[in-house]
Amino acid sequence: TTFKELGLHPKLLAAIEAAGYDKPTPIQSQAIPHVLNGHDVMGLAQTGTGKTAAFGLPLVNHLLGQFGKPDPKTVKALVLAPTRELVNQIAENLKAYVQGTPLKVHTVVGGASINKQIQFLSRGTDILVATPGRLIDLTDRKAVRLDTAHFLVLDEADQMLDLGFIHALRKIAQMLAEERQTMLFSATMPKQMEELSQAYLDRPKKVQV
Ligand code: AMP
Repeated sequence: TTFKELGLHPKLLAAIEAAGYDKPTPIQSQAIPHVLNGHDVMGLAQTGTGKTAAFGLPLVNHLLGQFGKPDPKTVKALVLAPTRELVNQIAENLKAYVQGTPLKVHTVVGGASINKQIQFLSRGTDILVATPGRLIDLTDRKAVRLDTAHFLVLDEADQMLDLGFIHALRKIAQMLAEERQTMLFSATMPKQMEELSQAYLDRPKKVQV
């Protein structure tokens, strides 16, 4: 398959070309059609397989089809990842994909200025990439609400469980819009993932590389 055959928006095809991606990786050709069709996805994939684009490209595609800017203190899509490094890496990829569009990508991570984060969240965010702990801090302070997020990605979910984020993830799940599309990616499928996937996913399509 080619990216064009996957039915992605022309603006995204340009961004993909600019990023130097020649053709979809296996996880991308499997996951992208499911996400574009509105299904929840459970992906078993390691870093390096192109999983960020597997959820990022169809996510941006959905948002390009939505009208209007996000309201203050709201987000349209939320991406959760276990570490600051991964959050920054994901955001860097997403920023490349939204090039030439009005969409904004922001990050919230621990160890960075919370006041700055409160400030940019006040203007509204299309795609927020966050570590769970700092995000809870910000929702507790009413700096952002999540009930407008109709897209959710849990990246490296097994790592988030290992780092003890299960309570934070449960709390976040309760704040999100009930009607949403969720993508969960993990390198391994420990038993605890069953609970997580039941809390978050609705009849997920499974993809694996
Ligand atoms: P990831 O597994 O998402 O961390 O991606 C690993 C690296 O592969 C990143 O630097 C991506 O920018 C790059 N990448 C993702 N998809 C493709 C693709 N289809 N062709 C070439 N490189 C890609």
